[in-house]
Amino acid sequence: TQWVYRFGGGVSDGGKGDKNLLGGKGANLDGMASIGLPVPPGFTISTPMCAHYYEAGENFPDSLREQVASGLAHIEGITGKRFGDPGDPLLVSVRSGARVSMPGMMDTVLNLGLNDTTVEGLAASSGDARFAWDSYRRFVQMYSDVVLGIDHYIFEDALEIAKEDKGVSLDTDLDAEDWRTLVGVYKAKVEEALGKPFPQDPMEQLWGAVAAVFGSWQSERAKVYRRLNDIPADWGTAVNVQAMVFGNMGDTSATGVAFTRDPAIGTRAYYGEYLINAQGEDVVAGIRTPQYLTKAAREAAGARAASMEEAMPETFTELANVFDLLETHYRDMQDIEFTVERGKLWMLQTRSGKRTAKAALKIAVDMAEEGLITQEEAILRVEPGALDQLLHPTLDPSAVRDVVTTGLPASPGAASGIMAFDADEAERLAALGEDVILVRVETSPEDIHGMHAARGILTARGGMTSHAAVVARGMGRPCVSGAGALSIDMESRVMRVGGRSFNEGDTLTIDGGTGEVMAGKVATIQPQLAGDFGTLMVWADKGRRMKVRTNAETPADCAVAREFGAEGIGLCRTEHMFFDPARITAVRQMILSENEKGRRAALERLLPEQRSDFIEIFRIMAGLPVTIRLLDPPLHEFLPHREEDYQEVAQASGVSIDVLKRRVSELHEFNPMLGHRGCRLGITYPEIYEMQARAIIEAALTVAGETGEAVVPEIMIPLVMTTREFELMKAVVDKAAEAVFAAGGKRLDYLVGTMIELPRAALMAGEIAQQAEFFSFGTNDLTQTTLGISRDDAGKFLSTYVDKGVLPKDPFVSIDIDGVGQLVSMAAERGRAARDGLKLGICGEHGGDPASIHFCEKVGLDYVSCSPYRVPIARLAAAQAAL
Ligand code: PEP
Ligand code: MG
Repeated sequence: TQWVYRFGGGVSDGGKGDKNLLGGKGANLDGMASIGLPVPPGFTISTPMCAHYYEAGENFPDSLREQVASGLAHIEGITGKRFGDPGDPLLVSVRSGARVSMPGMMDTVLNLGLNDTTVEGLAASSGDARFAWDSYRRFVQMYSDVVLGIDHYIFEDALEIAKEDKGVSLDTDLDAEDWRTLVGVYKAKVEEALGKPFPQDPMEQLWGAVAAVFGSWQSERAKVYRRLNDIPADWGTAVNVQAMVFGNMGDTSATGVAFTRDPAIGTRAYYGEYLINAQGEDVVAGIRTPQYLTKAAREAAGARAASMEEAMPETFTELANVFDLLETHYRDMQDIEFTVERGKLWMLQTRSGKRTAKAALKIAVDMAEEGLITQEEAILRVEPGALDQLLHPTLDPSAVRDVVTTGLPASPGAASGIMAFDADEAERLAALGEDVILVRVETSPEDIHGMHAARGILTARGGMTSHAAVVARGMGRPCVSGAGALSIDMESRVMRVGGRSFNEGDTLTIDGGTGEVMAGKVATIQPQLAGDFGTLMVWADKGRRMKVRTNAETPADCAVAREFGAEGIGLCRTEHMFFDPARITAVRQMILSENEKGRRAALERLLPEQRSDFIEIFRIMAGLPVTIRLLDPPLHEFLPHREEDYQEVAQASGVSIDVLKRRVSELHEFNPMLGHRGCRLGITYPEIYEMQARAIIEAALTVAGETGEAVVPEIMIPLVMTTREFELMKAVVDKAAEAVFAAGGKRLDYLVGTMIELPRAALMAGEIAQQAEFFSFGTNDLTQTTLGISRDDAGKFLSTYVDKGVLPKDPFVSIDIDGVGQLVSMAAERGRAARDGLKLGICGEHGGDPASIHFCEKVGLDYVSCSPYRVPIARLAAAQAAL
């Protein structure tokens, strides 16, 4: 088996740059080498080795050892240096690299190959003893941290002590001798912690680092990240070993990170940061404040330190050419790491850059308009779920803001919430339903769960490419980073800024688009749906087959959904209209009635209310299809449960507390979800459905009369399990409709269909379809009843199920294709076989989930229906599914 793939110096073993085999980083290094870009030579150990390593009890096969040796020989041949050579040693970096970039994993070990002997060789060959010893101490620190698992704080403490002893404050004030002494201290600390010395043999160092990369694939952080991002555990990671180049060899050396377009807003401008005389991690770690890449960016920011364009004009021009080449080659915005070693440019990494939803949209639309990609590709470039970021409110410009400080606008969007000072606390508060702003000095991969739980992230340190900024953009969380005026006291859990102090738990607002940090909550406004968003949606709508409807019952929701492009209502849950405080008394009277006569009296009072609801909805939907579902939930939901409410309700509904209590206990159910709900209510109390049908038909006639256009209501019967249930309910609806027609002398067309939300209904779909005029899959209940998992109680254990791989995802969020999906496709097939052109839709939560929408496209449903804010997501996902 070939495990090792070489690159650099005119070689690119990877051929097509296969990400599945070489991981993202390896594939792109190979890709850059193949188009002749200056890539330091190296090799990639392919991803299948990761699984192989675990299967072999965390051991490497001999074949790998041989191939790694020839990989090293490749690097040695090109650089003319030898690994472990005491005179002029080859140093390498070792990096992980999965198919997709994964912040949870071991990232990098630099300067590997240094030891007590080779450091002298490096000092001699570079002519810079300080550089050599600084590199060595960085290596000991990094290797000990990521490979040997020794807490990096002990090294940082030692460094602080060394600076104090010397009476200096900057690292740059330490000389070669100081670093040499510090290396001694570091090594002693390692020996103390480990009970054995720091490894001196470069080969032992190399294998240690390779094992650590594979080991990090199974770290807790990596597992959390995989779970949040649906990355399968069996993908594995690759390992990249590459010759070191140095950005810290004086003032003609530099290192930087860049994006070929702006990752926050998507404009076409080189965007990035660099540092003269520094190594890569200095830029990302936010230890020194990086400088701008271009003159324009520097001027726009009003910064003084020279941009790369000004400080190194020739190298900058070369770099800009590389940016253009890479964009044309990869046909996407690239995120790049580079180093300049004594005036020579080296490309260390390129990958498709993470971007905000706003930038993703703009870049996709721009690139299609530039002719770099097609419209179809543009549609596929934008992740539907990411649109969420654009559909949510931003700060109201006219609202009063109490700005306490301004940091960097690292990830756009506005968020308000209470402050939490660590990730665990953020997660805890979010679980209690609080909106949380995670406030940190800087974030690290250990914070990822807290960042996910938070509405927004605020950090005191770090640049635009800091961990917090990159991760927040990827997650779509608003983020303000590098708010340097903040001082966060973790001991007393207080944040101080400009003479004011805020306690953990106080409310804060951040605007990730401007960098502003505000005290208290600030009002927000709705998003703009024109521009790039509108353009992409037009393209998506051209490519889409399925219709997109919405689940809505209030006029406000209907209006929002229409603005978002809903093509009808797929589910109007009428019970939500019954909860209205103005009506609840009549509803309760109906429930408390001992007989039909009493119920009818109460229903008479509800009729005009329902009718006016439907009139309003039909007006807003202006001829678009509207599916109205008859009453579904168990009746006890409408009755009081708390002692203090009984009195009030008894009085208002004219019964004694005793009667009320008796009725509540009669209605009590052990399993209300499996109890007296859905059409079972209509079977036992047909007068309820009769009133609702009448209200719907009367409303439709009213609106049709106003506009002269046909209104075709779709009346839906919930929780059907037998054909007979449907027949009985359809008869009630038809009879009510006929009565309305007879009374008013006018008719209209209407449909009576059913929800398919019980396994038996799915099985009997062929028979039911002979009576029902449409099906709507209620996948919430269908999931609940197929899996036998209560939708209301699943939260307690489902995450454990997902963690342990029992279920791949939460089946209430993304449809269980294997099980529930099977019932859906079977019912669709049987239904259509029984009735030509049977209209099929889905109205469970899954109707707004991109993966489930792909499934619906496969099954050939006519439409999906989802909550108003998910309508654009569904439009895009439906287009992607159809392409
Ligand atoms: C469903 O069960 O999927 C559905 C849409 O109905 P509800 O969520 O109201 O039970
Ligand atoms: Mg249901």
